[in-house]
Amino acid sequence: HAKKLGKNNYQFFTPEMNSAAQHYLKLEHHLRRALELDELVLHYQPQVKIDSGCIIGMEALIRWHNHALGIVMPDQFIGLAEETGLIVPIGAWVLRTACEQARAWQLAGMPIRIAVNLSGRQFHRFQDQRQLLDVVLDVLKETGLSPELLELEITESIMMHKLDTTLDTLNQIKKLGVRISVDDFGTGYSSLSYLKRFPLDTLKIDKSFVKDICTDANDRAIVSAISAMAGQLKLELVAEGVEDQNQLDFLGGQQCNYGQGYYFSKPVPAEQASVLLRQSVLLQQ
Ligand code: C2E
Ligand code: MG
Ligand code: MG
Ligand code: MG
Repeated sequence: HAKKLGKNNYQFFTPEMNSAAQHYLKLEHHLRRALELDELVLHYQPQVKIDSGCIIGMEALIRWHNHALGIVMPDQFIGLAEETGLIVPIGAWVLRTACEQARAWQLAGMPIRIAVNLSGRQFHRFQDQRQLLDVVLDVLKETGLSPELLELEITESIMMHKLDTTLDTLNQIKKLGVRISVDDFGTGYSSLSYLKRFPLDTLKIDKSFVKDICTDANDRAIVSAISAMAGQLKLELVAEGVEDQNQLDFLGGQQCNYGQGYYFSKPVPAEQASVLLRQSVLLQQ
C-alpha cells in the first residue's frame, strides 16, 4: 500500500511500527533535555529488616516527569538512555542526588543505606571511560556520605561481561567501603562461582520468585535454596516484591532477613520517605 502515498513517499514501516518509531524519537527528543529541565525525580523504597520491621535502607528509583509525556517509568526510558549514552550523565545525577539525600538522612540522625541501580550498559559505558570509580569518589567526597552507607545494585549480566576489568573496577569500588549487591538475582545466567569471585555483600532475590511463594512449590524450593546458599556465603539477602503477610511469613522462616515491596511501602518521594524513616526510628526506641 506504499504506492498509494505517491511516487516520492516511501513507507517502509507499517502504521504501527511507524508510530512506535515516532514515539521513540519523541521520547529521545525529550530525554535529551530532561536533565537541564530538571524533569528527573528519585523516589525511595524502604528495605526492611523482617523480624523487627525497621528500615535499614532505601532504594533510589528514578521517575521522569515530562510536560508532554506525563510520568514516565524507568522501564520505558532506561533502555533508550543506554542506547543514546544519556545514561552516563543521568546515572551520575542519580548517584549524586541519592547520596545527597542519604547524607541529609545521616545528618538528621537516620543513617540508613542508600541503594543505587547500575544497569549493564551503564556500567560498561562508564567503565570504558574509566569514569565510574571517579564519579563514585567525587560524589562521596562532595556529599560527605559515609561510603558504607552506599550500596550499588548491579545485575548478573554486569558480572558476565568483560570479567577481568569488571572485577577490577568492582574491587576498587569495594575498597572505598562501598557495598555491592546483585539485583534481580536468579533471573540472569551468571555462574554460581561468580558469587565467590566478586566482592559482593548482598543478593536481592528477584520478585518473580517471591510472587507465588505461597502457592508454588518450585518457587519455595528456589527461595529456600538461595537463602541457604546466601547464609553459607555470608551474603545478606533481600527479598524483592513482598506484597503480603503470607509471603513475609514464609520468608521469615527462611534465612532471609530483609524484604522490600509494596507490603512495606511503594517507592515514594523523598518527603514521604523521610516520614517513614522517622516512624521507623521511633519503632526502634
Ligand atoms: P529494580 O531495581 O529491580 O527495582 C524494583 C522494581 O520493582 C521497581 O520498579 C519497584 O517499583 C518495583 N516494586 C517494588 N516493590 C514491588 C512489589 O511489591 N511488587 C511489584 N510488582 N513491584 C514492586 P520501577 O521503579 O518501575 O523500576 C524498574 C527498574 O528500572 C528497576 O528494577 C531498575 O532495574 C531500573 N531502574 C530504576 N531506577 C533506575 C536508575 O536510577 N538507574 C538505572 N540504571 N536503572 C534504574
Ligand atoms: Mg534495584
Ligand atoms: Mg533491576
Ligand atoms: Mg530487582
